[in-house]
Amino acid sequence: MVIIKVPEQLAKMKRAGEITGGALLAARDAIREGISTAELDRVVRTYIESHHAKPSFLGYGGFPGSACISVNEQVIHGIPSKKRILREGDLVKIDVGACIDGYHGDSARTFGVGRISPEAQALVDTTEQSFHLGVAQALPGNRIGDIGHAVQTCAEAAGYSVVREYVGHGVGSHLHEEPDVPNYGTAGHGCRLYAGMTIAIEPMICQGKKDVVVLPDGWTVITADRKLSAHYEHTVAITPDGPVLLTYLGE
Ligand code: MG
Ligand code: MG
Repeated sequence: MVIIKVPEQLAKMKRAGEITGGALLAARDAIREGISTAELDRVVRTYIESHHAKPSFLGYGGFPGSACISVNEQVIHGIPSKKRILREGDLVKIDVGACIDGYHGDSARTFGVGRISPEAQALVDTTEQSFHLGVAQALPGNRIGDIGHAVQTCAEAAGYSVVREYVGHGVGSHLHEEPDVPNYGTAGHGCRLYAGMTIAIEPMICQGKKDVVVLPDGWTVITADRKLSAHYEHTVAITPDGPVLLTYLGE
């Protein structure tokens, strides 16, 4: 069931989105060579709790962190660890969710640690670009496939591949709601989009092949060929005036 939010619910989503986006920027600002991913997780948790919200991911399906932090060939769902120390050149993906007043925000970004390779930067740039092309299709009357088609076309034109096993999703009073929002698809196909829907659009783009595997920890998803991957996500409200990025704070 696709849930249409009324203005009071959208206002709560906006608040959750602001806290989610703020936590992500706090984590970004803490990134440096030598920091552990557990320390970045603590920054996220502290930010969210100091804003009287709850980390959506903490305990979700038993997940032990407040943020998913995935490095280099890790695509998503990396578990924060004291042992994982960031090094110059690493590509770190931070995925954050915050819940306040019963509503969730969900947002992810990919950051470089110090100086990263031009190849890594190009992957990050294309992933972000594919998101923006996808979100431009998040219009009332369009279909889910319009979003995925735009993302996939952009990523594949640059020579990259799109993860199939993990997709975007509706977001609201549950972190994951219907509909699924794949980063691939056929224009004009799939669930129709209506004003009042709130969805997480989140391209996961791979430098090499699209295949992924889950590590024995049961969470961490990595590229099967161990090549780099990038992730970019915002919670988006579909409105008559166009898409509104609820987790974007202007930087
Ligand atoms: Mg997320
Ligand atoms: Mg998500």
